Amino acid sequence: MVPKEKILKILDEYDKDKLTVATLCSHSSLQIFNGAKKEGFRTLGLTVKDNFRYYDAFPKAKPDEFMKLDSYSDLLDNVDELLARNVIVIPHGSFVEYMGTDKFEKMPVPTFGNRNVLRWESNRDRMRMWLESAGVVMPPIIEDPKEIDRPVLVKYNGAKGGRGFFIAKDYNEFKLGLDPEQSYTIQEYVLGTRYYLHYFYSPIRKDGFKVHDGSLELMSMDRRDESNIDELYKLGASEELKRLGLFPTFVVTGNVPVVIRESLLPKVFDMGEQVVNRAYELFGGMIGPFCLEGIVTDKLEFKVFEISSRIVAGSNPFISGSPYSDLTEENMSTGRRISREIKVAAQAGQMDKVIS
Ligand code: AMP
Repeated sequence: MVPKEKILKILDEYDKDKLTVATLCSHSSLQIFNGAKKEGFRTLGLTVKDNFRYYDAFPKAKPDEFMKLDSYSDLLDNVDELLARNVIVIPHGSFVEYMGTDKFEKMPVPTFGNRNVLRWESNRDRMRMWLESAGVVMPPIIEDPKEIDRPVLVKYNGAKGGRGFFIAKDYNEFKLGLDPEQSYTIQEYVLGTRYYLHYFYSPIRKDGFKVHDGSLELMSMDRRDESNIDELYKLGASEELKRLGLFPTFVVTGNVPVVIRESLLPKVFDMGEQVVNRAYELFGGMIGPFCLEGIVTDKLEFKVFEISSRIVAGSNPFISGSPYSDLTEENMSTGRRISREIKVAAQAGQMDKVIS
């Protein structure tokens, strides 16, 4: 991990009036750039692929400049250029995934949020330890596949976006579906409705819903569109489909905005607060956007199957705000909220609280 003192030294030398917000051209970059522009920053799009022409169609989200790289790890060879532009990197899900956790942690460029969170988020056991010790309920794990006595989801370690997960109802189905080359965990399949809750924790803001030394905001909520599971029911009973060689997959293809029944909001804030507090105890805090991904059962219980500790693509439908963020400030996307936090931190001389 790049030492925080090194990052703070770099920040000291930055021209605070000429900060540039940079991210990888994918995932949630449109709202990150749009939000940065609204907050008055220069913007830099980092791109490896040649597929960035689509930004021409979105002038309000097109970065001022692109930096074309040969590979994601090339970013480490271009550090001087980034620092010369006073760059603050905004990590999003694809950024960390494409670059790799190790390289991302070592990148000696000021980055929004606390990079220590990655070690806790990228390992399923450690993530579970964090969330459960915070008091958040997760779907139970089944240690021994022979004990599968209800629908379960077999998740391969390191699998992303639900690719390769499979459902089994007993040991036989488990054996039939398993790729023995891969390590996995078996989780109870929770039946209910999915909600992906987008929070923002600010260690700087002192009003609102106070948590730890700062304030917790609820930015928005989405539900993912997942192919093919979301549409599979149209083809008939699952046993029949299996005979035809059709198995459910959970590959994210898009996002739909949702709101949750209002009586569940206290629970939503409780969970957010517990996770933030525990993050401080375990690794020095989680700053900025994060997402709890969970299922609400018909008993109105929340079971959280994952946390994502940065901006999620599920916040993309809310580029002009959401039914929740509108109640704090209109026109506030998560992307814009990140830039606002950087701006306020820079003005208050508190960049050390939000950058690592
Ligand atoms: P993940 O990669 O853990 O975010 O999971 C991918 C998708 O699998 C989720 O978006 C859900 O649709 C589904 N999923 C994950 N865990 C569970 C679970 N325990 N029960 C039911 N569905 C789940």
